[in-house]
Amino acid sequence: MTAPHRYYKTRQWYELRRLQLANEPWCRICARLGRHTRATTVDHVRRHFGNAEAFFNGPLQSLCAVCHSSIKRAFELSGHRSACDVNGRPLSREHHWNRPRRGISNRPR
Ligand SMILES: [Zn+2]
Repeated sequence: MTAPHRYYKTRQWYELRRLQLANEPWCRICARLGRHTRATTVDHVRRHFGNAEAFFNGPLQSLCAVCHSSIKRAFELSGHRSACDVNGRPLSREHHWNRPRRGISNRPR
C-alpha cells in the first residue's frame, strides 16, 4: 500500500485543498454548532485508507484545527466521529443512533 502522506505533497492535493478552502472557508462542524470559525484544514469525509482514487476524488470538508484534531482523535479511539449537530445528534453515519434499526419494533407491547 502506498503511504497516504505522500499524496499530501502532490500538486494535485495542493490545488484540491486550495479550492476546498476557497469554496468552504468556514469550519463545517463549528457552523453546525452555531460558531463561525475560519477553516484551516481540509478533511476527507470518508476514510481513504491510502487509496489514491478515494484520496483525490472522495468528498472533502473544511475544518478548523481544533475540530480536525478532536474528531480525528475520537475517530481513532472509537471508530466513529463523535461530533454532534445543534440537536446533539452525532454527525457520524457510523454512529449507532444513525444506523437503520433492524429487527427492532417500536410498537408498544
Ligand atoms: Zn471547528
